[in-house]
Amino acid sequence: DLHPIRRALLSVSDKTGLIDLGKALAGHGVELLSTGGSAKALRDAGLDVKDVADVTGFPEMMDGRVKTLHPVVHGGLLARRDLDGHVAAMKEHNIGGIDLLVVNLYPFEETVAKGADFDTCIENIDIGGPAMIRSAAKNHAFVNVVTDVVDYAAVLAEMDANGGQTTLGLRQRLAQTAYARTAAYDTAVSTWMAKAIDTSEPRRRSFGGTLAQSLRYGENPHQTASFYTDGTESPGVATAVQHQGKELSYNNINDTDAAFELVAEFDPADGPAVAIIKHANPSGVARGATLLDAYKNAFDCDRTSAFGGIVALNQPLDEATAKEISGIFTEVVIAPGASDAAKSVFAAKKNLRLLTTDGLPDPKAGGLTYRQVAGGMLVQDKDVGFVGLDDLKVVTKVAPTDDQMADLLFAWKVAKHVKSNAIVYVKDKATVGVGAGQMSRLDSALIAAKKAERMAEAMDLPEPLTKGSAVASDAFFPFADGLLEAVAAGATCVIQPGGSMRDDEVIAAADDAGIAMVFTGMRHFRH
Ligand code: 5GP
Repeated sequence: DLHPIRRALLSVSDKTGLIDLGKALAGHGVELLSTGGSAKALRDAGLDVKDVADVTGFPEMMDGRVKTLHPVVHGGLLARRDLDGHVAAMKEHNIGGIDLLVVNLYPFEETVAKGADFDTCIENIDIGGPAMIRSAAKNHAFVNVVTDVVDYAAVLAEMDANGGQTTLGLRQRLAQTAYARTAAYDTAVSTWMAKAIDTSEPRRRSFGGTLAQSLRYGENPHQTASFYTDGTESPGVATAVQHQGKELSYNNINDTDAAFELVAEFDPADGPAVAIIKHANPSGVARGATLLDAYKNAFDCDRTSAFGGIVALNQPLDEATAKEISGIFTEVVIAPGASDAAKSVFAAKKNLRLLTTDGLPDPKAGGLTYRQVAGGMLVQDKDVGFVGLDDLKVVTKVAPTDDQMADLLFAWKVAKHVKSNAIVYVKDKATVGVGAGQMSRLDSALIAAKKAERMAEAMDLPEPLTKGSAVASDAFFPFADGLLEAVAAGATCVIQPGGSMRDDEVIAAADDAGIAMVFTGMRHFRH
């Protein structure tokens, strides 16, 4: 399965490593063909290069749109060297075989990321490059196709070891990588276009991304895993800068995302907010007069669970908060910036990962979420549903006070980010009990109340902080029992979507208890 490389075509936008590759190939006696800019770079380095235009007999034209789209090129890539008919066709039409194709594409993704205008993005869609890559990859029985600078070394290593030849195994791996690249490239184009033309048509999406990181393992050590990015430039875990600490793990990335998306719900213009996440659910979320206060308040919701948590801030990390966070084992801290003093506090904590971004995610920005099921994938719009004061309907005899309203809306925002069934107790803009992911709403209400009782004992409080709290339920109460449990825990006001067959019973139970309840008309399931 060894096959020699005698002739190579090099056509690259990213010219990193090109000269060294060209020299090594020339050293093996390989004839070099190349396109405009690449040929010039190789020639400037003193290498002997043939222009593709001379081989095709056609000049590069139409601003480079047509350079290599020619039977002499594609025939040279696609011809089977072991079929008499193919070999005869090559001879008849004077087509030389191309055994190695080195192409990296016009930087379409980078052009979009830079915010270029529509026409510039269109001009940066590479046509000849992907066409050649697909031809060469199809014919990998004989042809090597290199689409990534990191693979230059692998090809040269095999050539060195095998007298200028490569193995089928390598050519197969290169072909598979090549198709991944062209698929991701076209996905990037299609994704950009869907946004650029603002289509509201039912979307025929394709899905893909660029491998950003091979992870040590997945959710568990026996699972392999990797991290793909989709080119989105907005602040988030994919674009954050890591200042210190070990490499992020699969679970870290997942939880850091949950933490940052949650804390971004709290406008920094209204003051600091902190979210602490464990296993994608918040163990505590709070505002505070200072960032330090907000962290302490979030921590106090569930001091036990905060151990080994992920902390997200809606403002740049300051020194005092960094000191406080350092007090317990924390996996990751993510913030829209960090002061130098804060960074030096963390420098002593070798295992703590600090990530900073240049802003917060926009909680109202759309997007899609994906979930794999056996045999397919579910795709939906991100949950950007939002309710404000004006959307709320008071359904009980008593209405919430202004302070209660503020806590209800706070609890509602948190509930949106808690796995269903979600029950969230809040007092003074801090969670005081979070019940997540239970199969019944009643159990979520009970668990959250129980945790608040345990915290009261641990902190020597006269009574649990759920006394006099506001409570949010991410979906309606199907029966009054969950609401009554919240009342028993001391809740004095409730926010929930409403819409149950038994709303009347639930409202009557709230009135009997003398508490206030508002309906949002919108639910926030999160599974
Ligand atoms: P160069 O810098 O060598 O002039 O151009 C290299 C780039 O041109 C590569 O990214 C390659 O994929 C791309 N390319 C090669 N042939 C064609 C073609 O026929 N049409 C277009 N649009 N791009 C091509």
